[in-house]
Amino acid sequence: MTNEKTRPYFHEVDEKHLFDLLNHNSDWLWEVDAQGRYTWVSGVVTELLGYPPDYVLGRTPFDFMPPEEAERVGLAFTEIVTAKRAFSGLVNRNRRIDGTIVVLETSGIPLFDDQGNLSGYRGIDRNISTLGERVLQLETIYDTTPVALCMIDLNGRIVMSNKAMTRLLASAGSGDVADYFPDVMPECWQQFLQDFVAADNSVDIPGREVMFCERYYYTQPVPVYDATDNVIGLSVTWVDITARRLAEQKLASANQVLQQFAQLDHLTGLFNRRHMDEFLLNEIALALEQGLPLSICLADIDFFKNFNDNQGHQSGDDCLRAVTKALVSASLRPEDNISRYGGEEFLVILPRTDINGALLVAERLRASVTALNIPHVSSPTGFLTISIGVATLYDAKARFGEQPLHSIASELIYQADTALYKAKKQGRNQVVSGTE
Ligand code: GH3
Ligand code: MG
Ligand code: MG
Repeated sequence: MTNEKTRPYFHEVDEKHLFDLLNHNSDWLWEVDAQGRYTWVSGVVTELLGYPPDYVLGRTPFDFMPPEEAERVGLAFTEIVTAKRAFSGLVNRNRRIDGTIVVLETSGIPLFDDQGNLSGYRGIDRNISTLGERVLQLETIYDTTPVALCMIDLNGRIVMSNKAMTRLLASAGSGDVADYFPDVMPECWQQFLQDFVAADNSVDIPGREVMFCERYYYTQPVPVYDATDNVIGLSVTWVDITARRLAEQKLASANQVLQQFAQLDHLTGLFNRRHMDEFLLNEIALALEQGLPLSICLADIDFFKNFNDNQGHQSGDDCLRAVTKALVSASLRPEDNISRYGGEEFLVILPRTDINGALLVAERLRASVTALNIPHVSSPTGFLTISIGVATLYDAKARFGEQPLHSIASELIYQADTALYKAKKQGRNQVVSGTE
């Protein structure tokens, strides 16, 4: 049952209302034929493009776009027409009669004739140029950010760059700011070429560090696509990380110094016991692996307490430094390693050396200290001397098998220490072997 009140309201719309609806709102309605030519336009077109409806009729949307834009939108539109589908939100730039640009957002539905063939489109254009305000705000952010931003096209042209990027490029100091990227950073460009390939294959592009004009940057390229999803360039951010980098380098070198301090004895400059313990474990592991002997010499200054008591602690320290020099010059091979193992004790590690070789080296060490001719009134010889206990690790695999390295090390040190004790007991200033 229908009465006046329940009738749908559009039946009530008369021509005047319709005219008002079509021509007094912000949206432009239109129809085009199968060739894209306007066959009907609402009056709003004059507000948007500046042209009267008569001028627009018979022309296509592309006639009002700058050539590059017409090409870009044309590609997108070809796909839509081929699929005979409806579309919405197609953003396009148009040139008004006064030469200014108006940005329109176009939506449309396909029209079909009685035979079902596509006869055109009916749609609507909305002016989204007021977004310009927003664009301006974004541009301000774009230009005032300390992060350098640019867009580079497939041919290496820098098509967009913010002020920070201009400063970055100007730091090369050539005067003119270049717009051809491969000239500015050839190596980086090679990397970007690979990035284009990665983007084509939908592979993520990793961020990376780049050095330019002695500054460090963290760059992150992001692919830029056109309306039909083709990669047309890279949008690249450049964050200056120089300060952080330099701080890291300082920290690294400070750590290196600290590590050296942790390994060295400050009085003699020799490795300390901590480092030597580690070193000995490594050498034992190598000896086991290679089946080669490893020898150690444990040297101890004779009557050193008396020396200090008679000549003072300062002279004692000087004496330790002099003994250090003598020992260092007496151990010949570069892989030999000397450390200050305790107060007036020195440990010499001799890799790939059997007991006979070690005894020869030990004798040379002893002689080198005697040769210093440092007077020592409370020693029977009248000069400063050292005693040395020598021990050798041989046939380690067969003799120690699966024993842990540190217990093999303890055993070796024990043998050398026992031999040293024997040397002291037998009259000092001599070398004794702890290994038969
Ligand atoms: P021995 O012949 O039996 O080795 O007698 P010794 O007096 O050398 O032995 P002892 O171990 O009793 O004394 C070691 C002395 O070495 C104690 C200390 O006076 C001295 N000494 C240890 N470290 C230092 C040091 O850094 N500087 C100085 N000046 N003396 C040290
Ligand atoms: Mg001692
Ligand atoms: Mg001593």
